[in-house]
Parts: sequence; C-alpha cells; structure tokens
Amino acid sequence: MLSCPSYIAGEWRAVSGGTPVFNPSTGDVIAECPAGGAAEVDAAAQAAAAAFPAWRDTPVVERARVMFRYRQLIEENFDQLCTTVSREHGKTLVEARGSLFRGMENVEYACGAPALLMGDTLENIARGVDCETMLQPLGVCAGITPFNFPAMVPLWMYPLALVCGNTFVLKPSEKVPLTAVLLVELLEKAGLPKGVLNLVHGGREAVDAILTHPKVRAISFVGSTPIARYIYETGTRHGKRVQANGGAKNYIVVMPDADVARTVESLSTAAFGCAGERCMAGSTALAVGAAAERVLPSLVSAAKAIRVGPTDRPAQPDMGPLITAPHRDRVLSLVASGESEGAKVIADGRSVRVAEAPGGFYLGATIVDGVQPGMTLAREEVFGPVLNVMRMDDLDAAIEIANRSAFGNGAAIFTNSGKAAREFKHRVKAGMVGINVGVPATMAMFPFTGWDESFFGDLHIQGREAVQFYTQQKVVSTRWFGEGVGDVWKK
Ligand code: NAD
Repeated sequence: MLSCPSYIAGEWRAVSGGTPVFNPSTGDVIAECPAGGAAEVDAAAQAAAAAFPAWRDTPVVERARVMFRYRQLIEENFDQLCTTVSREHGKTLVEARGSLFRGMENVEYACGAPALLMGDTLENIARGVDCETMLQPLGVCAGITPFNFPAMVPLWMYPLALVCGNTFVLKPSEKVPLTAVLLVELLEKAGLPKGVLNLVHGGREAVDAILTHPKVRAISFVGSTPIARYIYETGTRHGKRVQANGGAKNYIVVMPDADVARTVESLSTAAFGCAGERCMAGSTALAVGAAAERVLPSLVSAAKAIRVGPTDRPAQPDMGPLITAPHRDRVLSLVASGESEGAKVIADGRSVRVAEAPGGFYLGATIVDGVQPGMTLAREEVFGPVLNVMRMDDLDAAIEIANRSAFGNGAAIFTNSGKAAREFKHRVKAGMVGINVGVPATMAMFPFTGWDESFFGDLHIQGREAVQFYTQQKVVSTRWFGEGVGDVWKK
C-alpha cells in the first residue's frame, strides 16, 4: 500500500485508514486516503494563517523564483508524476503527459508574477494628487479538486495563489490523492517556507470545514455541478470569495462541408480521450444535413479500433479504464436509458473485455445515434467514452439544441465555411468555443470560462481573472503638503 500523508505546517503526517484508492486498471486497492475532518483542516488553516505575514512580505521576485525551481523539479520528475497520475486515475501515459504539460504551463504563468501584479498609476488626478493601484494578497486560500485531472487541476490553483502572496490549503479528490502528495513534496524541495502550502485529505467533512473556517478567505473549486453549487452557496454565505467550476455537456456541430478525416480524428479524441472523463469532452455531435452520412462510417470504424486496456504497464492502450466500478455502471445505465428511449448504439463499447486485467473498470468507445433532446442521455453529463449523435437539417437547429443545455462549458463547430463558423461563435451559449478545434480548453494565460451551470462565481480560474481572484485592490491617492519644502533639496 502506498502512503498518503497530509502536510501541515511543513510536517508530513501519516494517518492510517480511510477510503480506498484504486488502480482502476486492475481494480486493486493501492492506498487508503485518510478521512480528514475539522481538526485537520483547522490545523492546516491555522498553519497557513501563521505563515501568511512573512510570505506576503517576501519580495514578489523571490516568490516567483520558488516557482521557477518548482517548474524545473516537475520537469525532472515528469515520469514519476505521470506514472502516478496513470496509476491512480487510469489515464494512458500519453494523456497523463499532456495533462501535466497543461498543468506546468500554469506554473510557468505564475513565474510571471512580478509583471502580473503590477498596478496602475495616474499622475495629477487633482492638483498635486497622484493615484495608484496595488494588488495585495487575501490571506489563506483553499483549493478543492476533482478526480479527473490529479495534477493539472491542483496546478490551476495554488501556484498562482502563492505567487500572489497568499498561503494555501489544498484538498485533492479522495479518489486520486497520491499525485497531490508528490506535487507538494516537489514544492517543499523547491524551497517553499513551512506552512505556506498545506495538504489535507478527505471528503465532505474536510470540505465543510474549509467552507466554514474563519481563516479561509477564498475557495477555488472544480468538480460536479451539484457540489459546485453547494460550495458556492455555502462558501459565499460564510463570507468567502468562491470560484466554482462545475460539470458540462459539450456539443460539437458538424457541418456538411467539414473535412471528413480531420473531423473524425478530432471527434474521436474529443469524445474518447481520457475515456471521456473530461469537463471539455465532446459529448454530443450535432450532425447537420449530410454530415452524418459523410462522417459516421469512419467515426464508427475509428471508435471500434480504439484499444482499451490497462495503463499501468509498458505496453500502452489507446484508452484506459474509468475511475471506479460504480462510475462505469452509471455510464452503462445512461447508455441503456438512451436505448430504451429509442436511440441506437452504433458502436458498442459495452462488449469490451480486457483479459489481462479482468478486475479493471473498462468500457469501450461507444456511439449512440438518434439521440433526442429530451432523453436523459442527452441532458445529463455522462463522463465516460460515449458520444451521442443528433441529426438536424440546419445550423439554426443545431445552435438551438446546444443552447438549450443547462451547462455552458465548451462548444465546437467543424466546417469550411467562415460564415457558418462566425454565426456559431456569435450565437452559441458556451464560454469556450472551438472552430475546427474539438477540445477548446483554454491555456494558462486565458481564463477557463465556463458559463451557466458549469461555473458559479464571478472571476474564473486561470489567467488575469485568477490574478484578480487571488488579490484585492488597494487604490492609494497621495498628496504632499508644504510649499517651502523645495528648500530641503535646494541647499
Ligand atoms: P465531485 O463533485 O464528486 O468531487 C469534487 C470534489 O468535491 C472532491 O474533492 C470531493 O471530495 C468533493 N466532494 C464530493 N462530494 C462532496 C459533498 N457532498 N460535499 C462536499 N464536497 C464533496 O467531482 P468528481 O467526480 O471528482 O469530478 C468530476 C466532475 O468534475 C465532473 O462533473 C466534471 O465535469 C467536473 N470537472 C469540471 C471541470 C471544469 O473546469 N469545469 C474540470 C474538471 C472536472
């Protein structure tokens, strides 16, 4: 069993027991995640509060230098981090590497803190009066993260929060706590002072303690929509700033003029990459006119060719398992609900068997055609390797269906028509839009702009909005008296 300690005030604390952490490739339990509660969160928040004054007063270039060293250490330990992501989450090593790169870009962005934290000045706003803005840290911030990106999502949060001068309490998903332990170990090696970043484990009890702790000023959350709403409502009721990313249901419009080969490749990656466990997964193809006949045959062949298997050994499959058996069963029941409501499974991943790892949580790439907007499968986030296909006559109908979604994370269009693309990007109700890009997830310098039920809050994660989220502005107006003061330097 691997150990899963918490890290509070610069001390690693091992606690036995807790919830099982699986290797989803085999179904084996590889660790136990301690069920931290109010006492542990209190210790972490107090440690972060005690570390805050000295860290806030550490020059910003020194804070940034810790991130430069951290970036270097992540690179040096890249393989171990990716193996751990793959082991506890089930991503293929290729997917784990891709996600760690995206996380590392957030560390790189944080290295630019001296530029990001510059304020503005305006001279002579009135006679002899100058005005300046300063961006100052909030104090203790907290991050609560989901299972599906064990490295990337935590890296969305604490690197930037820390370089802004805050201290931090991280609570990773109890399903994938081991990558977070490694990430924190590396930041300790990079020279982060004790107490500046603290790691606690657990589920609801730990989260509730964070949401109500008087020392916690701001909370970043990423997870499912019901919990994101709960975090936002409870956190703000307790006077905290909250940014809470929720779930998604992303539509990809395929126009009849789309490039078939490239569209098939992008759709397949968008729907089946990371076994569909992505908030930016393309979950529904909206095929306009002849698009279905042009694209579906190759897409079905591509789905059937995806090799599913264990990701914890040198021979890598194209797609790994889902996170747990109950989650796979939920995905299976959603596919079954689509069938019972009249949709047709045209690529059936349910028949996949992985002989070398029979205990793993596998489901093959699945395509369901003839899905109608009212079906459960069309409305609920599936979070598995399932692509719905809906057919319609024109772009207006496709946009209308996409815009009916309660969510608003991503949407994409595949077309060769600039006019259709422009119409789509103008009218579609989603915060991140791809034009011939299947997964338009934003990079570190842009905000991750979920809308509607995909986001609760005002300032998004990543980019300048996140700098604003992790700081408070002070506006200073200055006037100096004394006409005779010139004498001081005249002599
Ligand atoms: P989840 O909501 O179950 O868990 C997220 C976090 O909340 C975990 O740390 C968990 O311990 C905690 N939590 C779970 N239940 C709780 C409860 N009742 N009270 C308090 N805290 C609770 O999400 P998940 O299953 O780990 O992750 C998958 C979800 O995350 C999907 O819906 C996916 O779309 C979403 N997601 C969204 C984004 C985004 O940026 N919009 C990114 C990644 C994942």
